[in-house]
Order: sequence, then C-alpha cells, then structure tokens
Amino acid sequence: SLKRFAKSEKMFSLGKLSAGIAHEINNPLTNVSISVELLEKDLKPLAQFESKLQPRIDAIKRNIDRASKIAGELLFFSHNRETELMPVNLNEVIQHTFELIGNRRNHYDFQLELKDLPDIEGIPWKIEEVLLNLLMNAMEATAQGKRIRVGTGVEERMVCCTVVDEGSGISENDLKFIYDPFFTTKGPGTGTGLGLSICFGIMELHGGEIRITSAPGEGTTVKLLFPVPEGSRS
Ligand code: ADP
Ligand code: MG
Repeated sequence: SLKRFAKSEKMFSLGKLSAGIAHEINNPLTNVSISVELLEKDLKPLAQFESKLQPRIDAIKRNIDRASKIAGELLFFSHNRETELMPVNLNEVIQHTFELIGNRRNHYDFQLELKDLPDIEGIPWKIEEVLLNLLMNAMEATAQGKRIRVGTGVEERMVCCTVVDEGSGISENDLKFIYDPFFTTKGPGTGTGLGLSICFGIMELHGGEIRITSAPGEGTTVKLLFPVPEGSRS
C-alpha cells in the first residue's frame, strides 16, 4: 500500500542519514582511540600507573569500543554485521556504496563498467568502507560535472576494481605519504587523513592490495586487487 511505501522510503533515508553520521563519528573515534593508546604508553612508567591510572584508561577504552560499536551498528543497521569472511560479490558492494552516497553522486558524471565477477572472500561492510573512502576522495578532488569511472574485472587472476578520476591528482612527494594515518592535504575539519590508511588496512586484511597512480593536474587511478579463493566459480 501507499502508506507502507512511504514508511520504507523513510526508513531508507533514515538509514542513509545515520550511515552518514556514523561515518563522520568513526573518524574522530579512531583518533581518540589512537591517542589513548599513546597516552597509556607515556603514563606507564609512573608509580601510580597500575593502581590509579590503568583502571581509568581501561574505562576510557571500554567506552570508545562501545561508541564505535554503536557507530558501526548505525552504519550498517539494515544489514547483518558479520565479522567473518563470506562470499562477496564486489559489484553488489559497489552498488550499495552508491546508495550510501545518495544525491551527491548526481554532481558528477559517474560511469560504471562492471563486469561479471567470481565471488571473493571478504567482509562486505569493510569493503564498502574502502569504496566509500575512495569515492569520497575522488569526489573531493574532482570538479563538479566531471567524469569519475568505476570499473571491475579480473586481472592477474585477481578480482579488481578501479576508481579513475579527472581531479587534482597527487604530487610525487605527497604520494609517499598518502597511506600515513592523519596525512591530509585538506583543510582542518575537512580531512582526517585516515581514509587511505583504513583502506590499506582493510585490503591487507583481505589478502589484497591497493595501488594508486596519479598525474598532478590530470587525475588519479586507484586500483583494488582481491585474491580469488580456490574453487570460486568465474
Ligand atoms: P583525507 O581524505 O581525510 O585527506 P585520505 O587518507 O583519504 O585522507 O587521503 C589522504 C590524502 O591523499 C588526501 O588529503 C589527498 O591529498 C590525497 N588523495 C587521496 N585520494 C585522492 C584523489 N582521488 N585525488 C587527489 N588526491 C587524493
Ligand atoms: Mg579521504
């Protein structure tokens, strides 16, 4: 019925809103989490550490974990949040990532070239996080109306995904640092510099690889490579 349709529409945009908020909350949370780790290291030599400081730090850590769990729940509340590896169709993950982006995709000339793919073994929502970061970076570097190509295929016996933009590109010097946590060329409050370091970690977790090539002033190509599990149909 019409009423039911309206409700599901609402659920969908609520999902998108909370996904957007959760994504924004996750970045500062990661920052806090790293800072606490460093603080703990610094305080360890102090005499009152074990008796007084350790319990407080543990409490902070527990609450960070709780908050990031909640953010994670919000981000993918309409999906099951397995942390175990499962068969994943990369094309489906890409389609879903575009849903998360919402209207912003209309500001660019997105071209999708998705080929038939064998399933990979992975954690779908983590791969989605990689793609979301790459698409955000591409959009942030590219003038509105310009082309961004997203393609998939099989290469070197790996499932591969490329994101090609015609944006600002990355200087040879910056290329050395782009995977470093907190390295950003965007203004404070805009960039956290965590996106690509997170992508790197997630690709490593999947036994895959991320490769970035760029020509300043011309654009950037990001390639993801995932191993194909033995026996996976192609
Ligand atoms: P952030 O986006 O918060 O700056 P990232 O880790 O996602 O952090 O990216 C780090 C840096 O790499 C960016 O600040 C930018 O300088 C560069 N970069 C990443 N992707 C692109 C891209 N598609 N085009 C141009 N520069 C990029
Ligand atoms: Mg980014």
